[in-house]
Amino acid sequence: ALSIGIVGLPNVGKSTLFNALTKAQNAQAANYPFCTIEPNKATVAVPDKRLQDLTNKAKPQKTINASVDFIDIAGLVRGASKGEGLGNQFLGNIRECAAIVHVVRCFEDENITHVDGNVDPLRDVDTIETELLLSDLQSVEKRLERLQKMAKTNKDAKATAEIMQTLLAHLNDGNAARNFSLPDSNEAFMTSWRELGLLTAKPVIYCANVDETAVADGNAFVETLKAFAAERHAGFACICAKLEEELQGLSDAEQAEMLSSYGIDESGLVRIIRTGYETLGLCSYFTVGPQEVRAWTIHVGWKAPQAAGVIHTDFERGFIRAEVISYNDYMSHENEAACRASGVLRVEGKEYVVKDGDVVHFLFNV
Ligand code: GDP
Repeated sequence: ALSIGIVGLPNVGKSTLFNALTKAQNAQAANYPFCTIEPNKATVAVPDKRLQDLTNKAKPQKTINASVDFIDIAGLVRGASKGEGLGNQFLGNIRECAAIVHVVRCFEDENITHVDGNVDPLRDVDTIETELLLSDLQSVEKRLERLQKMAKTNKDAKATAEIMQTLLAHLNDGNAARNFSLPDSNEAFMTSWRELGLLTAKPVIYCANVDETAVADGNAFVETLKAFAAERHAGFACICAKLEEELQGLSDAEQAEMLSSYGIDESGLVRIIRTGYETLGLCSYFTVGPQEVRAWTIHVGWKAPQAAGVIHTDFERGFIRAEVISYNDYMSHENEAACRASGVLRVEGKEYVVKDGDVVHFLFNV
């Protein structure tokens, strides 16, 4: 499953945010019987209005949203890469994640200690990112040593070691791995790169955590962090973790009322989940039938057989063709038969790139 790790300094609101996600998970649990419950993982639905529309139209027995796993990565502190506060163990947990939500404290509260004395979003970001970078340096150094030993007898290893050396210099200069120009043509290096799972290569969503007074209009800390995220082409969301936790206990109507009393129209969790989905380069296609209407997660750009493989590997192996109706066409016709009759149901082959919002039937050999 797709997982996003929640990181940040102590006392910034990570647990509060994670509790809100866990409550959301538990409220939705009936829809995800296949998800195992783990204490540091919250599996939540990706909200999608189109899925609701398709449900209203097709009236299936059940509806299943796409989902994202959030992983609580507590315990990151200054010195984590040197093993402070069980640091290395936590850093290892991030390696398994596809992206990072970096929670940054943007609220003042005399009663809640800041580990570095005062609220300063960019300093805090730098503290955490330095630990991630130091951890990557260690991983690359270790890998380079191994490659250099192999290089004595193996030509491929020698070429890979040379690129690894450039990567090491890049990191040593304080640059994140995500800004390294990858030699896509060097398969051996790319394999090494993927195995390393470098922490500073992962996409980041900076999440400004504010208090109730700043949810609608933000504050100076939020502006600073937002500009920083934009400069880096990273994701950004502003939330009030405390409010999110309170919201999760309420009915839909009560939630809407509470949100509007704060002057916002959407919960921060919804924004984070959606931003996470986009940051990972994901999109959804739908299957619609009398039993079930369901969203399936794929990467933008996937072709039909690969997209079919998300449902079942047999669908990919035995792929024959796909019958595709766009979401808009589906909604503007009476039913599927009408789509077929008016020619908006298309028959697509192996090379078709599945689009966000396609309603698809796969035909396959077993
Ligand atoms: P963590 O150490 O990053 O997991 O932080 P916690 O979630 O435990 O939060 C630390 C403290 O900050 C707790 O006392 C929270 O109640 C408080 N806190 C978290 N989010 C907010 C917020 O949005 N506004 C205010 N005023 N306090 C918050």
